[in-house]
Amino acid sequence: MNNIEISQIATLPTKYGTFKIQAFKEMTGSRPKEHLAIFTDNLEDIEAPIVRVHSECLTGDAIGSVKCDCGEQLHYAQELIAKEGGMIIYHRQEGRNIGLLNKVNAYALQDKGFDTVEANHQLGFKADERTYEVVEFILKYFGIEKLKLLTNNPRKIESLGKIQIIERLPIKIPSNPHNEAYLKVKKDQMGHLL
Ligand SMILES: [Zn+2]
Repeated sequence: MNNIEISQIATLPTKYGTFKIQAFKEMTGSRPKEHLAIFTDNLEDIEAPIVRVHSECLTGDAIGSVKCDCGEQLHYAQELIAKEGGMIIYHRQEGRNIGLLNKVNAYALQDKGFDTVEANHQLGFKADERTYEVVEFILKYFGIEKLKLLTNNPRKIESLGKIQIIERLPIKIPSNPHNEAYLKVKKDQMGHLL
């Protein structure tokens, strides 16, 4: 991949444990996207580390939204990976890559009764617009050829075609009254394994 600027590695203590972080600035499209690799010190020593590819969700990750399960999935991954070793790739493709403004418009349509897939279609997008080239780039950069993927999304498994996924680790998060319908659509229409 061309046009990627890579930061130094810094230490990031968190309430889940201490990680190393490194930023990857991807100069594509109309504006650059800055992704983050969040990993444990012992990454190099693990033959097939646990990897979570987490798609940015500002409302879920930072504001505590319970419309989705993103924040809980991220914290579950941080807790597990701090303990077992591995990496989280924080993938800056907000709203399944439709961007924050479109995601808020999709939420407004959901307020009117459309589900998450229908709302995306109303706005002229596919249910999922994400791409994973930069994820493969980051994994290669760290020399990770084999991994255990922490995900409920089988599409992510297919998207990392060239990387050997030796195991899928599920993320089990209990539903709440706000995200029950959303999780059902993810399961029934988007093939998520919940
Ligand atoms: Zn979310």
